[in-house]
Amino acid sequence: MKIGLKIKRAFFRRVVKPSVKRVYQKEDAINEKPEAITATEQSPTRFDIPLNIVEFVEQGKEQSLMINQTTNLMRSNIKNIGVSLNSLSKNALNPKETIDDIFLQELKEFCKTQGIATIGFTKLPRNLIFKDKAVLHDNAIVLVMEMDKKSIAKAPHRDTIIMIMETYNNLGITANKVASFLRAHGYSAHASHPLGGLVLYPPLAKKAGLGWNGRHGLLITPEFGSRVRLAAVFTNITNLPFATENSHEWVPEYCATCGNCIKNCPPKAIYEKPIKRENGLLTHIENEKCFPYFASNYGCTICIRVCPFSTTGYDKLKAKTIK
Ligand code: SF4
Ligand code: SF4
Repeated sequence: MKIGLKIKRAFFRRVVKPSVKRVYQKEDAINEKPEAITATEQSPTRFDIPLNIVEFVEQGKEQSLMINQTTNLMRSNIKNIGVSLNSLSKNALNPKETIDDIFLQELKEFCKTQGIATIGFTKLPRNLIFKDKAVLHDNAIVLVMEMDKKSIAKAPHRDTIIMIMETYNNLGITANKVASFLRAHGYSAHASHPLGGLVLYPPLAKKAGLGWNGRHGLLITPEFGSRVRLAAVFTNITNLPFATENSHEWVPEYCATCGNCIKNCPPKAIYEKPIKRENGLLTHIENEKCFPYFASNYGCTICIRVCPFSTTGYDKLKAKTIK
């Protein structure tokens, strides 16, 4: 084994793994806060990507995860999950609870300057909080960041995994900045990182009116198809413009005629019909089948590449579907 690789593996075992476990312990400790909004019996169990990546590296299967190129990005992602948790102590004791139109516009502008493509607002249902996790507020600001088109078009490719880790990193940093922005204006905020996160993002983003879930389990947006990563900031602001409708409900009608993601998923991790988990939640995706392939093949992402919403585009498919 090359010396560099040996050092990397030891680094993952001795540095990355303990730091992942430390941030997870801090996440779980939010449950102890009196104001915590906790998961329910029906809540999904989170598939812990960073921990699974560490274990993958420990087992010596790290080659196509491009650890030389992505180790620093992984460390930065973990660090920024820690930043989101440590910064909760900066929330004011008696924060303001409402905003006016001028500040709402400022918030949207701020998000845009930080690389956020679209933003939505919704109440967080407790059953979308991952098991054993908790958040401080149930007013959700959902953040959408675009993933690079060229890197997706090449998937699976070394550029794909690097771009995915970069997008996670940029969005995680941005979510923390949005939380700081709210605090600086007298509000309370809790940023949830895109890598793993505290809640199941696609249904939350759908509830915020930002798109609809495809059969690949990902959010399909009108702007970028499923070429997006998601994060959220939870806040005590009670009068956000929460979405009351969703104009993308026609998407499953198109999905029913397509099935490209199902046909092209190499480990057959996407099911034709949704399966019911033990907790009663329906899902099309088997993470346990997807992840080993994802990790062995440069972040895979074939399901996003072959989705017509990523290539043909939303408007053309809508015109074809709704006559
Ligand atoms: S990322 Fe790859 S393995 Fe995972 S669901 Fe998509 S196509 Fe399948
Ligand atoms: S590939 Fe086809 S079936 Fe799968 S999510 Fe996209 S449109 Fe739906």
